[in-house]
Amino acid sequence: LQNPPDPDISDQNAVASTSASAPSPPPPPLPPVLADDRVSVSVEACLKPSSTARIDDVRSAIERMLEKRSLSYIDGPVPVPLDDPFLTENVERIRICDTDEWVQNHEILLFWQVKPVVHVFQLSEEGPCEDLSGDGQLPSFNEWMLPAKEFDGMWESLIYESGLKQRLLRYAASALLFTEKGIDPFLVSWNRIILLHGPPGTGKTSLCKALAQKLSIRFNSRYPQSQLIEVNAHSLFSKWFSESGKLVAKLFQKIQEMVEEENNLVFVLIDEVESLAAARKAALSGSEPSDSIRVVNALLTQMDKLKSSPNVIILTTSNITTAIDIAFVDRADIKAYVGPPTLQARYEILRSCLQELVKKGILSNFQDCDHLVIPNFACMKEKLNMPEMQEAQTKFHLCKQLFEAAEACEGMSGRSLRKLPFLTHAALSNPYNCDPIKFLCKMVDTARGELSEL
Ligand code: ADP
Repeated sequence: LQNPPDPDISDQNAVASTSASAPSPPPPPLPPVLADDRVSVSVEACLKPSSTARIDDVRSAIERMLEKRSLSYIDGPVPVPLDDPFLTENVERIRICDTDEWVQNHEILLFWQVKPVVHVFQLSEEGPCEDLSGDGQLPSFNEWMLPAKEFDGMWESLIYESGLKQRLLRYAASALLFTEKGIDPFLVSWNRIILLHGPPGTGKTSLCKALAQKLSIRFNSRYPQSQLIEVNAHSLFSKWFSESGKLVAKLFQKIQEMVEEENNLVFVLIDEVESLAAARKAALSGSEPSDSIRVVNALLTQMDKLKSSPNVIILTTSNITTAIDIAFVDRADIKAYVGPPTLQARYEILRSCLQELVKKGILSNFQDCDHLVIPNFACMKEKLNMPEMQEAQTKFHLCKQLFEAAEACEGMSGRSLRKLPFLTHAALSNPYNCDPIKFLCKMVDTARGELSEL
């Protein structure tokens, strides 16, 4: 924050400039400009479906509520204050986001170090709107109004290490800011194309959708409306290639119309872009009609055209993990590898599964699974083997069992991990109100069985 001009200094300068005879003393240094070095922390508030309150009013009410909050800031829910009838009537939930980085660095964020940035949103319950013009084929695209109910909680459920999610969020936020400020692309170049690549089932498609949902919430004061168009790259290559060209044209005409509305933020998700490269290669080798080349080229040209619109972000995924050498990929600014979950990520994914099963009464409720969060995961293995830790404590047994399950799942994708608790449950001889420790033992067997079939 810039300090207001110091009246004393202005006065001294005035004296110096008017008294010509007196030797002018050197002007005192200006007081340092105090920077606001508080950490910006996002606070997201979801309105009830029935709420008709103005977003600005709710935001102000939450800002006032947070001013009274003299606690530390950590990711997670904040209770809606029961003594505030306006908030209880309109707000379903409030959540603090993005503090993990600080917490992982063991820095606790206290309220005076934090500058809360409140984002208020209401979920769309409209569901996807499919394009069914493909004459009985797969729809060539789905359209979602964002933030959508279907993607609620997806961002939080995806677990990666090394700040991947934060990196993507920051990248997209910078790209939108540069566009908004009209930065000259000849002087500073950037674009709005993201490519996530890695083995199947590592959450790439989900991460793209979750990112679009997050950005639609974070940028809703600039862009009150957001849409996601999910393009099915396979279906663009119908067996009638002459149709494909028309489909691409139709699709991009629709996107163009959306983009022309400057209050819209449009996300275009093109899944499995490698199918475009494959189609091109097949056409070159003569095994597919050369029309497919035209379709891929049309798609690339249309994407280049879209790039000039400030309010579009193109999200792409590919299951090919090695170098992807298509023209398409060269256009991406951020290429992030999304790999299979590490031990810590596997532990966290399984912990979140366990938490859900305890919460919904499938597993007997021994205690809150939040207690199983391990702050310093790197030393976990040594700690588990320390004799004093091995005393008969339920929490400790459970941590150990969960850790063993996570170790047993090495090589599994995130998708397989999320299915594992279901398969485990189906394999139990007594599936009612099962004890979590027994459940985790069974899970290790199930994981081994699954891995042996890979
Ligand atoms: P991909 O596009 O890479 O094939 P998906 O987005 O289809 O993967 O992932 C399928 C599901 O697998 C996700 O919806 C999610 O439930 C689960 N999943 C995959 N990776 C992870 C992860 N890192 N953390 C949590 N869940 C994951």
